[in-house]
Amino acid sequence: MTDLGTTAPAAFDLEQHRADAEAIRRFAADVLEPIAESGDAPQTTGPMLAALTEFGLMDRILPRNGQTYSIGSALDICRIRNALAYGSPAADSVFTMQGLASFALVSAGSDDQRRRWLEPVRTGAAVAAFALTEPDVGSDAAALGLTATRQGDGWVLRGTKTWITNAQSADVFITFARSADVPGSKGVSAFLVPADSPGLTVTPIEMISPHPIGRVDFADVAVPATALIGEPERGFATAMKTFDVFRPGVGAAALGMAQRAFDETVERVKTRKAFGGTLFDKQAVRHALARAAVDLEAGMLLVEEAGRKYDSASPDRTQAAATAKYFATEAAQRIVDAAVQFHGAQGLARGHVVESLYREVRATRIYEGASEVQLDIISRRL
Ligand SMILES: Cc1cc2nc3c(=O)[nH]c(=O)nc-3n(C[C@H](O)[C@H](O)[C@H](O)COP(=O)(O)OP(=O)(O)OC[C@H]3O[C@@H](n4cnc5c(N)ncnc54)[C@H](O)[C@@H]3O)c2cc1C
Repeated sequence: MTDLGTTAPAAFDLEQHRADAEAIRRFAADVLEPIAESGDAPQTTGPMLAALTEFGLMDRILPRNGQTYSIGSALDICRIRNALAYGSPAADSVFTMQGLASFALVSAGSDDQRRRWLEPVRTGAAVAAFALTEPDVGSDAAALGLTATRQGDGWVLRGTKTWITNAQSADVFITFARSADVPGSKGVSAFLVPADSPGLTVTPIEMISPHPIGRVDFADVAVPATALIGEPERGFATAMKTFDVFRPGVGAAALGMAQRAFDETVERVKTRKAFGGTLFDKQAVRHALARAAVDLEAGMLLVEEAGRKYDSASPDRTQAAATAKYFATEAAQRIVDAAVQFHGAQGLARGHVVESLYREVRATRIYEGASEVQLDIISRRL
């Protein structure tokens, strides 16, 4: 394990890496995407997790060594996400959330908490969710208002979380709450809240693309003292460390979607007849695709560098993660937009692959810190 709780990546072999990425892309397209399309998102989460576990990918995001659990190599997670999102953006989300929500338990949880939850989450038997955002507090997460008040030996949670991925299918919510009457990040603790806790209710929210997401109301939800993850009032730091690991992966997933849109577009413009030749004969089209190719390569270099920096516990890892997420998600949006443009009307037809990618890629510039938040982080070193 590395200093930050992730697993060191294996020595790099380019041929092996390409074969691995290709196998994951095929698995995502042939197995996972059909599951995603077979029903509504909350119902398909379980079957997708079962397939991801069988294929061995859950062992790579949440490896287990005897009784010790870690988060997989951040670099490897980026590569997996890039390949998964190429074949199935929905599968990328299902895969990632199990690791993202587990980070707090891996890095700060008690032995009992890990034993109870990490094995089922790792094997897909339980679904985990990460509950930070609230109706009144998103980007400025340190201002969160859901309260945790001591009651006897335990705590009572009161308030609302929203935009929570997996809300409907979650068995457990890693919930960030204000446990001390101190403003800002200093008063925040992390709690493990089982979804069947009395007083906890979920309201689904429909998004632009099929994403399992919802609002979670905590109406005096009582949890025992053992629900506290790590030290009291250290929860915000844990939430931010989670983003150091997983933000580069958002960039990687966005680039996976963009690569798919790009490949579809190259095929399309080479065969689409217009003006006595093909669209590819037009310099304006070729240059736009060349720009997209540069963005794809540059984005992946930044993403992989951020993954490496995390895995080597570099002091630059937060900056690198913000840089990678910012560049890769902004570039991916431009590339998918160009893909729609060069498909013409067909690119806007409901059900066309670039149409669905256009809707899917949009959220990556907002979740885990909007682009402007990444720019704030990047600008701190200037
Ligand atoms: C698909 C999806 C999945 C999500 N999953 C989860 C989840 O599992 N768990 C969870 O806790 N949350 C989740 N979220 C919530 C997400 O993290 C928030 O949406 C995000 O942090 C932004 O918060 P907000 O939506 O409240 O926007 P606001 O904070 O209201 O910001 C609105 C906009 O203002 C701009 N802005 C914000 N800050 C700055 C700044 N400092 N400078 C300049 N401009 C700024 C940005 O353009 C931003 O998009 C998810 C969101 C989406 C879309």
